[in-house]
Parts: sequence; structure tokens; C-alpha cells
Amino acid sequence: MSHDLILKNGEIVFPGEGVRRGSVCVDGGRISDILPPDVMSDARRVIDCTDRFIMPGLIDPHTHIGFGNKEADWFTETRTALLGGVTGLFSFWRSDDLGASTGPWRESGEASAATDFGFHFGVTSRRHVAELGALSKRFGVTSVKVYLMYKGATGAAKGFTEVDDALLFGALQAGARIPGGVVGVHCENTEVIPVFREPLKAAGRNDLKAWDEQSPGFLETENVFRVAFFGEKAGCPVNIVHMSAVESLDLVRRLRHPGRPPIHVETCIHYLSLTRDSDIGFLGKVNPPLRSQADVDGLWEGVREGAISTIGSDHVPRKRATKGPDIWQATAGFPGIAQILPVIMHEGWNKREVPIETLAAATSRNVAELYSVPGKGRIAAGFDADFAILDPEGETAVVPENYPSHSDYSPYEGMRFRGRVTHTILRGDVLVEEGALVPDIDAPGRYLFRAP
Ligand SMILES: [Zn+2]
Repeated sequence: MSHDLILKNGEIVFPGEGVRRGSVCVDGGRISDILPPDVMSDARRVIDCTDRFIMPGLIDPHTHIGFGNKEADWFTETRTALLGGVTGLFSFWRSDDLGASTGPWRESGEASAATDFGFHFGVTSRRHVAELGALSKRFGVTSVKVYLMYKGATGAAKGFTEVDDALLFGALQAGARIPGGVVGVHCENTEVIPVFREPLKAAGRNDLKAWDEQSPGFLETENVFRVAFFGEKAGCPVNIVHMSAVESLDLVRRLRHPGRPPIHVETCIHYLSLTRDSDIGFLGKVNPPLRSQADVDGLWEGVREGAISTIGSDHVPRKRATKGPDIWQATAGFPGIAQILPVIMHEGWNKREVPIETLAAATSRNVAELYSVPGKGRIAAGFDADFAILDPEGETAVVPENYPSHSDYSPYEGMRFRGRVTHTILRGDVLVEEGALVPDIDAPGRYLFRAP
């Protein structure tokens, strides 16, 4: 029999397990067989993967689609994602009326997304908590996010007036009742921030390091304790998203216990590669802030040992013009979805010898498991044929103009990373070939409806 596609003689990366040379057969959009090296079978299309890694397509657990150009982001940002080997993503969806707005937002994604996609609901009001169980069932969403940094005045400035510890605890109680439910939390004690921020402003500080000083790592750690403790009392698994400080990770290690609900940890590529001392000025403003080299190194140890289970981008596709005029007024966040693989290969595999199967687990298998996506995240018969093919000797130079993103800059611009994505494949369709998007990709992305 003739297969649809064969990825021939590559180094196949089995997340969390190891690397083995062989060929992967694809039929009907799924993996149909894995062949030992040099055993060949017929196929309509063969891609020679000699000396290349065949990895499961990345699933970015943390993106903000719609923060750039709401009408165009599904188109531009998912195609940017493909260039980085990303075949699936989760985007945070916030709306006063989730019941009325989620359907149209999903349809907008289905009309133009080139990657598969799912949602995490942003819980910002009592109404959201009350409706969560029904919304979860209706839209297949098992994960939510509570923004502790939108308490009080910070939240009011964004139109959120109900974010407090009662909302957090209510969300945890609701999350505990959702099958597969997990509550992600932005941990940063916004009530203490002014104590640091006002003197820095008064002193005329206007540098990236000041952004770290106005919200030091322990303000994240303090919130992590509250979230983990309340999660235990409510019986709800929690996820500390975009962890930035190694002190927070040390606390999680102490709080984890086999008899308690899990405390998951996600970090993002910028906390694994950039610091408050990086020479990138206002472009590096993000919440939580970039920290020290010791934090970067400590978080990498967490990735290596599995204490950090997922790695995302926190992709925010705004324009460069919003990153000023000073550190205080610049917008927070930056794009990064296409840089996940180059950054983790360069900083993790190349510099720190973190096994590639560990990196693959943190960017595919663990994401699929945490967010209840069966059939993705592994290279095994029956799983979706989603792949990132990587040339480990190649190089990625970050040139913003080379990506279709709405965003026109990158905190990594000018940097070079070892490792280059050559092909990206979504359910058997080759969408990136030798580092370039194939022309006229329709809208192959599907909505990830989760119903564990
Ligand atoms: Zn956040």
C-alpha cells in the first residue's frame, strides 16, 4: 500500500522518552506507522529528514490572539506560528458576556486560522464564575485564567472591578467541578507594587531594570502561595502561568504533595533567555517582568527536572510604536510565538544540554495532557500527524519582516539562534517547506473542543 506521506530517516523525538532514528508514515492526517531506519515503503510524497529532528508540532499554551489586529490576527499570527513549528495554540479569551461572544470568536478563528486553536476563558467577574460550568460544557473549554494583577486600581483602569480573592476562590471551586478543569493564575501582588514603583518614578528611572524593581519576584511568589493553598482547599488543580522567578519555583517544590491537587507550572521563552539587563530597552517590558540571569538559570533547571511542565510564548502581537515613550507608558508584552523552538533549542539543548525529548514534552505532550487534547502531542500510531522538522545545525536569525505577524518588532531581533525549522506539518498537510510558508494556505486550523 502507498502512504500519503513519509518523513524519511529522521531522528524521531518521542516526548519524555528519547530519540530514535526511523521514518514516520502518515495516512488520512494521522500517523499510521513508524518504520525502523532504512526500511522504506511507498508514499505519494517523501520528505528526506536525514540529520533532522522530527518533533511533534508545538502547541503554544499561552497566546493573546486579538491583541494586535482583532480582525486579522487569526490569519497573521497562526501563519507566523507555523514558521516556528507551532501547529496548535491556546489563546486567552476575555469578554463580559462569554456566552454570547465565544461562538463568533471561534467562528472567526475557524474562518482563517492556519493552526489548530483552543481557548482559555479569562475569569474577571462574578458572572463568569456563576456561568463557568455551563460555558465549559458548551464550548469545550476546561481551562481558565484569573488575573490577580487586575485587582484594585490596576484592574479598574482596565475596566475590571470584581477581581479579588473571593473571585479567585470562586473560580477554584467552579474549576474543581469541571471535568479536567485547571485554573491558571497570573501571580503578581499588584497592591504592593506602588510601594516600589512610586520612588522609582520619582527618581526619574526609565530603564528596563526598573520594571523588575517595581514588581520584584517575591510579589509573584507571595501570590503563588495563596493560589496553591486555596487550590488545595478548593480541591482544584492550579497552573502558575508565565512563571518568572526561581523563588516561586522553589515554593512550588515545597508545596507539591501526592495527596494534594496538582500545582502545574508554565514558563515562557523570555524568562528562559532574556533578563532585566538585556540590551533591549522598552521592548523588554512584560508582566511579570524579566528577572536576573540566576532566575533564567534556575528556571532552566526546573525545565530539565520536569518541575516546569509547559513552555509558551505569551505572544502579544502589538506594534513597536506601543513600546514607549518610556518604560512606564510602554505596553506590556511582545510577540514570540515563532521563536519558541529556536530559543529552547539554543538556550536549552545547545547551551545547557537539556534533552530534546524533555523540550518536546514541555511544548507538546504536556500541553496536550494538561488541556485535555487527546490525539496530539505524541509521535505514535493514531495520533494527529502534526510535526515540526528541525535542522539542529541550521540557524534562525530573528528578522521581524520575515514573519506575517501584525507585530513589526521582536525583543529577539538581530539575535541568532542555533536550530532552524524546515517543515511544519498539520494533520498531514505540509504548510511550511524549507523554512517558507507554502502559498495560498486556506484555513486548515480546527477548533480544539475539549470534553474529557
Ligand atoms: Zn498573565
